[in-house]
Amino acid sequence: MLIIGGGIVGCSVAHLAKRGSTDVLLLERKKRLTCGTTWHAAGLVGREALLRQREARVRLRLVAVALEHADRLLYHNEPIWRNGGIVGRPTSGMFDHFLNQSLGLRYVANGGAPLSDEWITAGRYEVEIAAERVPARASLRPFYDPNSERVRG
Ligand SMILES: Cc1cc2nc3c(=O)[nH]c(=O)nc-3n(C[C@H](O)[C@H](O)[C@H](O)COP(=O)(O)OP(=O)(O)OC[C@H]3O[C@@H](n4cnc5c(N)ncnc54)[C@H](O)[C@@H]3O)c2cc1C
Repeated sequence: MLIIGGGIVGCSVAHLAKRGSTDVLLLERKKRLTCGTTWHAAGLVGREALLRQREARVRLRLVAVALEHADRLLYHNEPIWRNGGIVGRPTSGMFDHFLNQSLGLRYVANGGAPLSDEWITAGRYEVEIAAERVPARASLRPFYDPNSERVRG
């Protein structure tokens, strides 16, 4: 992934992209990062909220969900269950023809407690579709091309 410009936007994108990709290049035309308009900002919008969130640790995480049964589809608003309790709400869902199964994205929470990677990966998940709970897998990484190898060629 190539990012042009090392302002707050470019640095933020590079930081986030690095978490899911191993090959990120940030190009800045001047001598230092954040030397553009970012340098002039007294306090960027959202900084305080980000600092508070970092202090309190993350309590809501976006996870990828894959249905175990290829014949079931995700439509809209299907809740996600973890170990017998509802933990999340959907953001999107679609059938993936590369993996031949339905994939979705869900925000999950643990009753307001901080969320660890272990808590997310250790659960037994189901997605409720038309009043039936369908077994599912949850992952912090995308199911398809998690290392962006297809994108990089
Ligand atoms: C005087 C002033 C005060 C401000 N105060 C505030 C504030 O208090 N709070 C707030 O929230 N916002 C404030 N802003 C707005 C805020 O600074 C900007 O919205 C924000 O910094 C934009 O970030 P950016 O990453 O998009 O751009 P920039 O920070 O401008 O970064 C763009 C970078 O790209 C580089 N670049 C450009 N072309 C190329 C190229 N071809 N190749 C490689 N690199 C390239 C530039 O050198 C630069 O480093 C202020 C802006 C100004 C000008």
